[in-house]
Amino acid sequence: RLRGGRGSRHPFGRESSTLVYAVGSGKGGVGKSTVTANLAVALARQGKRVGVLDADVWGWSIPQLFGVRRPPVALKGLMLPLPAHGVVLMSVGFLLEHDEPVVWRGPMLHKAIEQFLGDVHWGELDVLLIDLPPGTGDVALTLLELVPDAQLLVVTTPQPAAQHVAARVARMARDAGMPVAGVIENMSTHVCSSCDAHTPLFGAGGGERLAADIETALLGQIPLDLPLRSSGDLGVPAMVASPDAASVVEVGRIAARL
Ligand code: ADP
Repeated sequence: RLRGGRGSRHPFGRESSTLVYAVGSGKGGVGKSTVTANLAVALARQGKRVGVLDADVWGWSIPQLFGVRRPPVALKGLMLPLPAHGVVLMSVGFLLEHDEPVVWRGPMLHKAIEQFLGDVHWGELDVLLIDLPPGTGDVALTLLELVPDAQLLVVTTPQPAAQHVAARVARMARDAGMPVAGVIENMSTHVCSSCDAHTPLFGAGGGERLAADIETALLGQIPLDLPLRSSGDLGVPAMVASPDAASVVEVGRIAARL
């Protein structure tokens, strides 16, 4: 149960040295959470202290992706984030029963994110990745209030439909004052696990067009492959389970650019 957060500490305010990236997308299913999880592990493997805040309140998947499903422990009024694969995690999914229906209205979402930032003992972090709900909403604004230095990472597939809605999210965030750190194209090309053929299942060029459109960098193009999907289902990030997969190698390259 989320507690009233009046007087919450906001450890990622202006003086904080933690790099905060909000990972967003225009629509669901583009791999935002999968990318967030694997980026987090990649950054941890570079020696960074990394936290993941799963703010995707409608479709949280960080608990599944890291294979963690237990309620966090509270210590002196603060929740302790759960450690997994070298990263510390907090998710709305840790606090709710599996299929518990939740109607998230704007103010609740604001409060939840406020509490996840302020009432969680994150400790000293070098990087905090925030997995945003897909699409627009109050989240970017809420985040900016609480984390004035947060930057947006936009995940899209190469398809025009994903690209256009992602552009809208990026513009809204930027209009609100949140800089865009770059675009990550996911599902760029399909790599066949038996013959290594590369097929652009979802088309090509969406990431590049989006980056040009919103005048930011295209940080990388992650192929569609089996290990990234199957490891997520198993609850072990592909960065751990299949470090040599093409998708994982590309996520590692992107992490090195952050
Ligand atoms: P989102 O967070 O954008 O809703 P998810 O991270 O849940 O998307 O990914 C949606 C589905 O696509 C998941 O089943 C995930 O395993 C799969 N997936 C994501 N990226 C890839 C990829 N590059 N290769 C293969 N499967 C992927």
